[in-house]
Amino acid sequence: MKVTFPHMGNAHIPIKALLKGLKLDVIPPPPISKKTMELGVKYSPEFACLPLKVNMGNFIEAIEAGADTIVMAGGWGPCRFGYYAQVERDILKNLNYDFRMVILEAPDSQVSELLKQIKALGENVGLWEAWKAIKFAWYKLNAVETLEKQFEYFLPRAINKDEVERIFDKGLENIDLANDRKEVNNFTRITLKKMQEQPCHNQPILRIGLVGEIYTILEPATNYNVARYMGRLNAEVTRSIYMSDWVNDHLLGGWIKKSRHGEIINCASPYLNYWVGGHGRETVGYTVDFARKQYDGVVQIGPLTCMPEIVAQSVLGKVSEREGIPCMTMYFDEHSGQTGIYTRLEAFIDMLQRQSYLQSSVRREEPIIAGI
Ligand code: SF4
Repeated sequence: MKVTFPHMGNAHIPIKALLKGLKLDVIPPPPISKKTMELGVKYSPEFACLPLKVNMGNFIEAIEAGADTIVMAGGWGPCRFGYYAQVERDILKNLNYDFRMVILEAPDSQVSELLKQIKALGENVGLWEAWKAIKFAWYKLNAVETLEKQFEYFLPRAINKDEVERIFDKGLENIDLANDRKEVNNFTRITLKKMQEQPCHNQPILRIGLVGEIYTILEPATNYNVARYMGRLNAEVTRSIYMSDWVNDHLLGGWIKKSRHGEIINCASPYLNYWVGGHGRETVGYTVDFARKQYDGVVQIGPLTCMPEIVAQSVLGKVSEREGIPCMTMYFDEHSGQTGIYTRLEAFIDMLQRQSYLQSSVRREEPIIAGI
């Protein structure tokens, strides 16, 4: 069995570790490229959201590289994600590709169900080996996210941003190649040290919350790497979604680490008090949370026509006004253009920098006024 899976940011690193631990031959799709997009767009319905098109491109490239089994996450409504895997399977079958699709259904926090599905994938391993594979994949996922968070911190502060990007990318590459926990720890430590040693400037740093649809947040190829671009503009970006939080909250029922999900839903409730699918309610909740943590602004991103994010966007105006935080929304599809996206980001950040400068000058002048 030669297994493949769709790309989603750096998730390919722990997914590869998991599938290899289950003693499967893994054929990851090539990194997302122009060709991936073209294939996905060519063979997907025009009205499908961007993640489905990218998945399609990934699957075609992986099957052509020799994969015969696709592992895909399942789901349910109310948005289109409930039908993703089935639609993708039918399109690929109509194109006469010979493959098997294994759909891992989200078990609604039944950990034993999830374990059963993963174990069924690894036909040649016992329960203990399957458990070890899951633990090692989780370990790699945490190492990847440690680097991601440090990268988000150091990129805006560093003088030599190219060098910080190079160190981070190399660190991820090494974690991907690591064979055991000791190697993962070593590579993580060395990468963090190198990032910390980079000289920093002392210009003001803005803090921006990045909220929205999970795939667009995690996969830079679908958002023109907006987080990196903002980092290069001296803005520290904090994402609302990290893969480990999603796994912990949605698959493991908050079993592995303390979850903030309930708190975020409470933040959203004065504005959006019911589940609208995807991460629409979390988008609203995190925007409120970022506002209360005195962030300078929030950027909401999602695929064009993403229903949950459209619902969230419709209340973000009120959130912005009442909680006092500037918000900007950006949607992406295959027609998006880098120049337009970067121009909008520059304008938003420029506005926040001016606002933050004005606020700090008002603060500087306050004692003088009080003295009069
Ligand atoms: S969350 Fe948005 S992008 Fe994802 S499947 Fe639903 S509508 Fe499409």
